[in-house]
Amino acid sequence: CGIIGYAGHRPALPIIVEGLKSLEYRGYDSAGIAYMKKDRINVVRSEGKLSVLEKKLERINALSATYGIGHTRWATHGLPTEKNAHPHIDDQGRLALVHNGIIENYQELKDALQKEGHKFWSDTDTEVLAYLISKGARLKDSIPEAISWALKQVDGSYAFALIDLENPGKIWAARNASPLLLGLGAGENFVASDIPAFLPYTREVIFLEDNQMVEMDANSWKLYDVETLEPLSKKNQHIAWD
Ligand code: GLU
Repeated sequence: CGIIGYAGHRPALPIIVEGLKSLEYRGYDSAGIAYMKKDRINVVRSEGKLSVLEKKLERINALSATYGIGHTRWATHGLPTEKNAHPHIDDQGRLALVHNGIIENYQELKDALQKEGHKFWSDTDTEVLAYLISKGARLKDSIPEAISWALKQVDGSYAFALIDLENPGKIWAARNASPLLLGLGAGENFVASDIPAFLPYTREVIFLEDNQMVEMDANSWKLYDVETLEPLSKKNQHIAWD
């Protein structure tokens, strides 16, 4: 399973698909992509191999999308079907999220959200994370605050990335006990589970640590402590190998 996010100056979808291919070695049973088009979040997902997803994408004209997120899934909660494939969108249609790992207390969180009237579409633990951050976004002033608020309630392992309808061009990502890297390019930035996902474009890398969150767009990035929201400074590393 793997995640990738791209924000830059080139068509995002081919870069995300190639990135997912380079993460294939991590194993997967389904895959999907989310991107913005005409002020809407679009999600394309499929069961099975990446070639199935690629076929679907061939029929879509999305070359104008310059940022997005992608996922290869290794199902832990819910069958490897299209409806359980990531990205997951919250029930307000506001944000789309890809996730690697397991939300241990998802059932409890899901029950509480259902009591508030939220309807769920998948059997995954991940969907709960999307709904919870979306709820945070309604309660708080910014996405970093929403993520921090949500993650305080979450037990489990995760590396996730998300896009938000109300913040075009931006991607947020955070981790706890699952790998997550930031790749720094020229006029383009990446997040991914592993280096090969962006190696054709950049060798400048920052390894995120647990409890760190990144906010990025094509030309800038910021690192935060998830709990305190304090900005962090970290130097990038140059990757010399092929
Ligand atoms: N637990 C999530 C799911 O079953 C993510 C699995 C993964 O890491 O791919 O959808």
